[in-house]
Amino acid sequence: KVVMEKILWRRSLQLRDKQQAWQESPEGRKMLELRRSLPAYKEKDALLTAISRNQVVIISGETGCGKTTQIPQFILESEIEAVRGAVCSIICTQPRRISAMSVSERVASERGEKLGESVGYKVRLEGMKGRDTRLLFCTTGILLRRLLVDRNLKGVTHVIVDEIHERGMNEDFLLIVLKDLLPRRPELRLILMSATLDSELFSSYFGRAQIIHVPGFTYPVRTHFLEDVLEITGCRLTPYNQIDDYGQEKMWKMSKQAPRKRKSQIASVVEDALKAADFNGPGAILVFMTGWDDINSLKEKLHANPLLGDSSRVLLLACHGSMASSEQRLIFDEPEDGVRKIVLATNIAETSITINDVVFVLDCGKAKETSYDALNNTPCLLPSWISKVSAQQRRGRAGRVQPGECYHLYPRCVYDAFAEYQLPEILRTPLQSLCLQIKSLNLGSISEFLSRALQSPELLAVQNAIEYLKIIGALDENENLTVLGRYLTMLPVEPKLGKMLLVGAILNCLDPVLTIVSGLSVRDPFLTPFDKKDLAEAAKSQFSRDYSDHLALVRAYEGWKVAERDFAGYDYCWKNFLSAQSMKAIDSLRKEFFSLLRDTDLVDANTTTHNAWSYDEHLIRAVICYGLYPGICSVVHNEKSFLLKTMEDGQVLLYSNSVNAREPKIPYPWLVFNEKIKVNSVFLRDSTAVSDSMLLLFGGSFSKGTLDGHLTMLGGYLEFFMKPAIAELYLCLKGEL
Ligand code: ADP
Ligand code: MG
Repeated sequence: KVVMEKILWRRSLQLRDKQQAWQESPEGRKMLELRRSLPAYKEKDALLTAISRNQVVIISGETGCGKTTQIPQFILESEIEAVRGAVCSIICTQPRRISAMSVSERVASERGEKLGESVGYKVRLEGMKGRDTRLLFCTTGILLRRLLVDRNLKGVTHVIVDEIHERGMNEDFLLIVLKDLLPRRPELRLILMSATLDSELFSSYFGRAQIIHVPGFTYPVRTHFLEDVLEITGCRLTPYNQIDDYGQEKMWKMSKQAPRKRKSQIASVVEDALKAADFNGPGAILVFMTGWDDINSLKEKLHANPLLGDSSRVLLLACHGSMASSEQRLIFDEPEDGVRKIVLATNIAETSITINDVVFVLDCGKAKETSYDALNNTPCLLPSWISKVSAQQRRGRAGRVQPGECYHLYPRCVYDAFAEYQLPEILRTPLQSLCLQIKSLNLGSISEFLSRALQSPELLAVQNAIEYLKIIGALDENENLTVLGRYLTMLPVEPKLGKMLLVGAILNCLDPVLTIVSGLSVRDPFLTPFDKKDLAEAAKSQFSRDYSDHLALVRAYEGWKVAERDFAGYDYCWKNFLSAQSMKAIDSLRKEFFSLLRDTDLVDANTTTHNAWSYDEHLIRAVICYGLYPGICSVVHNEKSFLLKTMEDGQVLLYSNSVNAREPKIPYPWLVFNEKIKVNSVFLRDSTAVSDSMLLLFGGSFSKGTLDGHLTMLGGYLEFFMKPAIAELYLCLKGEL
């Protein structure tokens, strides 16, 4: 022990000397000068004192004041100065991969180091971390995974949870776990950082924890709403009665008198605004879009524009969660004189990433989680209106270096109707995956645990999730994880997708299953343009032979793969009404899912290919059934066609772009589906036809309760629809025949 201590002491001294040498070097001095200009630097001593005296400290400060890049660094520097460099271990969580990566790189360079020395990062499937890494930026998910094997975070001295104002599900979850951990680890320090001022909630959650506010400064920002934009551009504004979700579209249409066909509504609105608005003086333009797909479609439009696509005058960049790190660095660079930088960003640029030279902001008013986030277990959300707080944050980005201008591309009355804050994620998303995670961390009763959240989800939502997990066989009657449940916790995807992957791996038909699971995680690759609906639906049905949207997707993807090899992927998509972006996304998701599976023991770790090219369609059908159960509906044939019924909803309908919607008859008794949506009637999205025996063997589980006279959900279903043949088979399986 004494020897060990000596080694650590020596190591700590070395670290201190190295740090001092950098700080005294000319580059180090210059960097320090730059850092000193950030508001957070002025609070350095107060922050460090507060952290040394309190177990929990909450720091709020305007975006760009230096929370993320400076505060973890202050702690690291002061630990190194105090010759504790070799024994401290600081973890700073970020809600998104891209911020963990870009911030760690920035901090390393501010310390005159390469990534992986004292500063590193770790996100899923990627990381840069060395033996001497003392400050680690990681995603919240990574820390949660670490807690799985290391409940007490042994050796960690500081945990910093960043961007808590976003109220993501993972962050809220982490806070409950950390709150439990604090009494067990009295020397551990917890620092929470928020970009908004409403820190009271967090403070009272942690027993009136100290709040430190970093005062920021922004220049005034002139604000325009859509009506002002129209006026500036000389468009006539006809009065409108009602603003719905398409308010923007309506106004633009009306102002130009003639309705126009639009591929991406938001992209078109922004394109018009970019062309029309008059950006006086130098400064970058930051455009808030909803996601990767919008950004891409706007990018294409702008490239085609003679003015905005001219690269000698415009530097067009994107900023979203799935961009490459080389792309990331570019957004911070200042363009050459006479070149206008335009950054198309998702809400990532709202508080996570600060681009310094922004003077103009265009805000489309909507946000969504990117489709790629499926990997982080976030269900795909449709774009929806942002909150007032978000709109203010977006506006604030324009006033970093000088007075700026913000164009909100929606009418003021829409803004007035925005919610003050966005609802925390834990209150608005299904909790199945979260419940599984609670179980895998051995945190006891799910509902008891969740009742201790910052804001607890509704009891009904929790019960629904638990019930669902029992039905799919991930939890047993006593809410304990089953073997299946344990496997599912290893795959950070929705349980139904995880089930398909697992059984696909076991049955050695992974290739098509990877395509299906990836396809369900991205935006629907089958496009149905409003004016070419029939053509598009006909194009889709070419891929259908077997009453399955999921298998149609597999065929479409395989065709694309072949075309792509001849560099004809785009043509193929164009001809077949497929989204090339979705196809590419599927391609990369397949790889990610495959490497996830290699982390389990179900796929041989040395396997590099998963190309079981020939596969049995019935087998895939069974795998789909295994994953999608209990999403089942019964097919009831009448003379001319068929009706669909579920137990809960009665009659349901198919979306018109489902291949099954074009079939006069379906020679199967059931459909399994992955999503149902209530509009006026209940509509099923993608569906696959399955047989009785498939449903029995790959659908619901026959728990012990069945034999005791209780029907499982599947049993109830069968009884409800009185299918004689299947009832017989069922009774036979129950051992009663
Ligand atoms: P906060 O977390 O308070 O929003 P940050 O610490 O992220 O603030 O940013 C502080 C400053 O550092 C900002 O002015 C930002 O533009 C700058 N910055 C952050 N990352 C980089 C980078 N990779 N390159 C250049 N400047 C950066
Ligand atoms: Mg930050």
